[in-house]
Parts: sequence; C-alpha cells; structure tokens
Amino acid sequence: MPTERVKVLIIGSGPAGFTAAVYAARAGMKPVLYQGGQPGGQLTITNDVENYPGYPEGVMGPQMMVDFQKQAERFGTDVRSGMITSVDFSGWPHKVTVDERTEIEAESVIISTGASAKWLGLESEQRLNGKGVSACAVCDGFFFRGQDVVIVGAGDTAAEEASYLSKIVNKVYMLVRRDEMRASKIMQQRVKNAPNIEILWNTETSEVLGEEEVNGVKVKNTVTGEEKVLEAQGFFVAIGHKPNTDIFKDWLHMDEQGYIKTIPGTSKTNIPGVFATGDAQDKIYRQAVTAAGSGCMGALDAEKWIAEKEVEMQEA
Ligand code: NDP
Repeated sequence: MPTERVKVLIIGSGPAGFTAAVYAARAGMKPVLYQGGQPGGQLTITNDVENYPGYPEGVMGPQMMVDFQKQAERFGTDVRSGMITSVDFSGWPHKVTVDERTEIEAESVIISTGASAKWLGLESEQRLNGKGVSACAVCDGFFFRGQDVVIVGAGDTAAEEASYLSKIVNKVYMLVRRDEMRASKIMQQRVKNAPNIEILWNTETSEVLGEEEVNGVKVKNTVTGEEKVLEAQGFFVAIGHKPNTDIFKDWLHMDEQGYIKTIPGTSKTNIPGVFATGDAQDKIYRQAVTAAGSGCMGALDAEKWIAEKEVEMQEA
C-alpha cells in the first residue's frame, strides 16, 4: 500500500492541537490530527473551566474539548484516533508512524502532545481526583474559597500555586518532603511571608481522606515519624509535570526536563517543518488559552513554511 502523504500533520488533541487544526484547515491545508492516548488532553480531567475567555458562565472541560473538535472538523480537519509511536525527522518529508504500523509522510508536523501532571501515586489521591484533588491551583483554587487546602511540592510551581491559593482560601498547608525548598529564593520568601501559609517541613502525604469529597489529609513527619491529620477540603499536587515528548528526543532540541525548545517568538524547532506548540514546549504558563494561542502560531508558521518550500521546489 502506498504511504499516505499529508501537508500538515498535527499530533495531539488539546487546545493547542485543535487550534492549530482550525487555522490550518481554514487555510486550506487539509490537516490530519491524531488524538493520542487522551483525546481532548488535560482539560478532559477538569470540571468547570472559568478562565477561558468567551465563556461568561464557564464551561465543563470535556464539553469544551468537544466544541474545539467540532470547530476543527467544521473546516475539514481529519481527526483520527491513534498514537504516534515514532518519528523520523532525518529527511523530508517527515516520516511518522501511527500505532507502530502505519507510516505517514508529512510535509509539516505540528507537535501539540502536551504534558502530564505528576502524581504521588496514592490510591486515595486517584479516587478523589476531581472531588477535591487537583493538580492545577489556577484551574480549581476558586472552588475552595474560604476553605482550608493542602498543597504538596516545593518547586517554583508549588510556591506559585501556594501563593495563588493563599489569596483565595482561608489557609494553605504546604507539604515539603525535605528540610529545604527547591523553589527560587524570591518565591520561597513570598510563601514564607504569607500569613495564611503554614509550611510543614520533612512531611509526606500518607493518605487523602474522604469518601465522596476530600475532608482531610493524613501526613507523616519523616524525621520524627509522627503522623497527624490536617483538616482540609482541597488537596493540590504540584510536584512537576512531564512533557509528552519522549518520541521526539532523538531529533529535537529539548531542555533537561524534555520540554521542546522553540526559536523565541515562534513555534519553530531545530528541524525545518517541525513546529512545537502548547505544553510540550511551555513549562511556565500551561493554560488552555496560552496553549490555544501557541497552536495558532504553529499553524501560521507551518503555512508559511510550506508556501516557501513549494516555491523552493518549483525553482529547483
Ligand atoms: P520541580 O521539578 O522544580 O519541583 C518539583 C517539586 O516537587 C520539588 O520540590 C520536589 O521535591 C517535589 N516532589 C517531587 N516528587 C515528590 C513527591 N513524590 N512527594 C513530595 N514532593 C515531591 O517542578 P516545578 O513544576 O515546580 O517546576 C518545573 C520547572 O518550571 C522548574 O524549572 C521551575 O523553575 C520552572 N517554573 C518557573 C516558574 C517561574 O519562573 N515563574 C513557575 C513555575 C515553574 P525535592 O525538591 O525534594 O525533589
């Protein structure tokens, strides 16, 4: 069977991927989008999204992703289920393998594979996910206004999210597993200065308590062995994210955590015709709206690149 050739191949189905698809499809580039292992991406595991502009009443995360997909399909995006399992960017067109079987040749590739939050791995954390357990304070902090919450982590994200939460909730317990924080000095200072953040050093989570919703967290001091229960209605995990970029590591420049490096102000990677968008290349903002904006950049960059490539080929 001859190998299929596509002009624009989009990998991933979060806000970045679908926005890239809307733009590429409207530009007549007939994009093909592979949804990956979690169709709709991280927003499908959140509830209300209240900070995406244009939804004055908010929208449920899964519904929002259905809407993104419909909009992309309306202009002719070919949305397919399947995982991209390997890529070969050694020549052009780029070779991409779907589900370890089907090879596709892509004139341009837009990577929108996102990132996944890291979790502690406790059974109770998983069971109460979305019922008081969250990995995104900016998304879910608002639901705990006036209440007490626990946040785990000691990096810049945890410090930033603890500060953010402290302005909304009554009290924040911050669990730090060592006797020091990894966060930058300024962020540490901000956390330490907040009157309603209590830092518990050398402290690990034993269990998140509650049946239908979180009502407390059992913690353990790793030095003294002492266990106690913190009363809290929210449990935030901020121990880092992992970008879903493993399949690109032999080809693309990345930082030490695996975030794809792009040329500042663009979505261009080190490989011509390969563009990176959304959380796969953004460890700072990580919002649906910033991912969508970056998906738009990916499509515009791909469109321009293909136009230039076509001129180059005609001249050759
Ligand atoms: P980091 O990897 O920097 O920090 C993760 C934190 O989680 C560490 O303190 C780590 O503890 C802790 N941790 C990991 N596993 C566990 C566990 N099982 N139990 C308890 N604690 C755990 O991730 P971040 O998301 O904070 O930051 C990622 C990158 O993004 C960093 O480079 C950061 O500087 C950057 N960033 C910058 C921001 C800014 O400049 N405004 C904002 C947010 C992020 P330990 O220290 O003991 O390993």
